[in-house]
Amino acid sequence: MSIRVAGLSKSFGAQKALDGVSFSIEKGEVVGFLGPNGAGKSTLMKILTTYYQADAGTAEVGGYDVEKDPGAVQRCLGYLPEHNPLYLDLYVREYLAFCASVYKVPRERIAAVLEQTGLGTEAGKQIGKLSKGYRQRVGLAAALLHDPEVLILDEPTTGLDPNQLIEIRKLIREIGRNKTILLSTHIMKEVEAVCDRVLIINKGKLVADATLEALRKDEKQVIEVEFDYRVEETLLRGLPHVEDIRNTGGFVYELSFSTPRDMRPAVFDFAHDHSLKTLQLSRKTQTLETLFTELTGDRPVAHPKE
Ligand code: ADP
Ligand code: MG
Repeated sequence: MSIRVAGLSKSFGAQKALDGVSFSIEKGEVVGFLGPNGAGKSTLMKILTTYYQADAGTAEVGGYDVEKDPGAVQRCLGYLPEHNPLYLDLYVREYLAFCASVYKVPRERIAAVLEQTGLGTEAGKQIGKLSKGYRQRVGLAAALLHDPEVLILDEPTTGLDPNQLIEIRKLIREIGRNKTILLSTHIMKEVEAVCDRVLIINKGKLVADATLEALRKDEKQVIEVEFDYRVEETLLRGLPHVEDIRNTGGFVYELSFSTPRDMRPAVFDFAHDHSLKTLQLSRKTQTLETLFTELTGDRPVAHPKE
């Protein structure tokens, strides 16, 4: 087990930032930690990195307890904080050399992480002159210096332009091939692009913990149809793959189907076969994004560039 959290709670004054959160992450998993702003993501990550102390509950990283063994925890994790604080005046190689000396990492590791994060040609540049995407690479390189088993990345792509976003996601996926990663985000699309599993947090409480595979299997198709006359539910039950039928007023019906195949033609044929007229027909898919909106009772913060 790479990360294990049990009954974790933390308040700031009257504000409950985390309220009894429990989950565990196996070695090698890439897990998205998804929630709207203020949900408690950074607070949980700061407890894992030993920066904050929890009020109740326990947390372990790489088998070490964050309170009893903070040194061992820090050795087995790499952390990219939100807003990635960097020394803009330093040159990339100089900054990594500074980090290597602070963490007592052999200097040979610098070349290795420069290569791993695609920074080879930028090593001689001043950090302040780099694009935001390249600054994130520098943050990732620093987090990887001591070759930790676990990476904790707090909103690693927030504020990147679309091309940088794609590049950084690709890099995180590559790194995730042989590390455990917990990555926070407020964008479901990001989880879909990078992660195997998602933990959804809202107002300090964990509201979902599922693999992407399981969520995709649960995706539903809903068709709203208006006929020119009332239809018996038993007749509608004859539609293939139909799961749920709701009359939402007048002759309007909401039909859920358990198939990804577009069922509009089947509904059309059904109307024809029963001498009904279709006045309106529309299809909506319950995407992972709508699931997130439902679970958090909040519209996800739209990413301006997506
Ligand atoms: P997220 O990272 O999901 O946006 P945070 O963990 O930063 O959420 O914050 C969770 C809640 O805790 C918010 O209501 C926030 O205002 C509060 N909070 C976080 N850190 C502090 C702090 N150092 N002092 C006071 N309140 C805090
Ligand atoms: Mg945060």
